[in-house]
Amino acid sequence: MVLIRNEEVSMLEETRVACPYCGEDFDTVVDCSVGSQRYIEDCPVCCSPIEFEVEVDGEGNLLTLMTRRDDD
Ligand SMILES: [Zn+2]
Repeated sequence: MVLIRNEEVSMLEETRVACPYCGEDFDTVVDCSVGSQRYIEDCPVCCSPIEFEVEVDGEGNLLTLMTRRDDD
């Protein structure tokens, strides 16, 4: 656990992804300070639950962002 002082440290990365259900592109914001993670976010176009798999390196840089259907 790394404590960050009260400085504004932005580790939010805006990325464009394609929905695995409807194929529409949309922008999503990834919080790289959390590290590698998996989460579900609804598609803003078709409202289907998309599973995001995020890989972040030790310095908080976004390496990969994969989207897949929750029902695979
Ligand atoms: Zn969609």
